[in-house]
Amino acid sequence: MTSKLELQNVRKSFDDKVVLRDVDLAVGHHDVICLIGSSGSGKSTMLKAINLLVPIDEGQILLDGTEITAPGVNPNQVREKMGIVFQAFNLFPHMKVIDNITLGPRKVHGLPQDQAEDHARQLLEQFGLTDKINEYPDRLSGGEKQRVAVIRALAGEPDLMLFDEVTSALDPELVAEVLNVIRGLKDRGMTMLIATHEMGFARDVADRVCFLDQGMILEQGPPKEIFSSPREARTQQFLQRIIDAGRL
Ligand code: ADP
Ligand code: MG
Repeated sequence: MTSKLELQNVRKSFDDKVVLRDVDLAVGHHDVICLIGSSGSGKSTMLKAINLLVPIDEGQILLDGTEITAPGVNPNQVREKMGIVFQAFNLFPHMKVIDNITLGPRKVHGLPQDQAEDHARQLLEQFGLTDKINEYPDRLSGGEKQRVAVIRALAGEPDLMLFDEVTSALDPELVAEVLNVIRGLKDRGMTMLIATHEMGFARDVADRVCFLDQGMILEQGPPKEIFSSPREARTQQFLQRIIDAGRL
């Protein structure tokens, strides 16, 4: 069976700095992959490359066996098939929660307003946010904003979700509510790529953990293996720093 997502020899430089060097990664259907590594190791660039927000220099990216980095591919059509959630809350501040969620389905997928709203209501109910339907983002907590951002990404019914440090901007007591949403998606079989500094969460939720170092996937494997007996010295150093900071 073809992979859900595949990166083959992906290279990317900004000016003369190599940010992704020969990245190879195969993501199976329903796989949950956590990307860990120091700040600047290339996690965000990798996720943006997959979402076609950053053009790659070499290599290819395949979604369901089709090359999405080929010339002539319409990036908007590709983006409809995946949801992405970033660290900073990217909700539109002038729009109510419901309108934030239905905008994409109405504008991009051409769904009639009532259908888009029905679906949005279902999602809000699932994620315990029904009472926030008519609020503006600035009246929500950080955790609620991030849950709305996840719902918005789910509104297009993607079967691949990309998460980039989605809890990094949250107060510690709000982190769990967002991580639980991601756990719920795993239970529903969502394929996910999650860049995270939450090592406990990665150990818990990931089928596979990839350690990025200077633009390379230096080491990957089941969380047990990576966290308990990393092979590479750089992975050991990274994890030791996390342990020293009391975060694992
Ligand atoms: P991470 O998410 O792991 O912290 P990033 O992918 O954000 O890493 O960044 C990898 C490297 O690429 C960093 O050195 C960063 O400064 C650089 N970089 C990222 N985006 C750009 C950009 N748009 N222009 C120039 N350099 C960039
Ligand atoms: Mg990043």
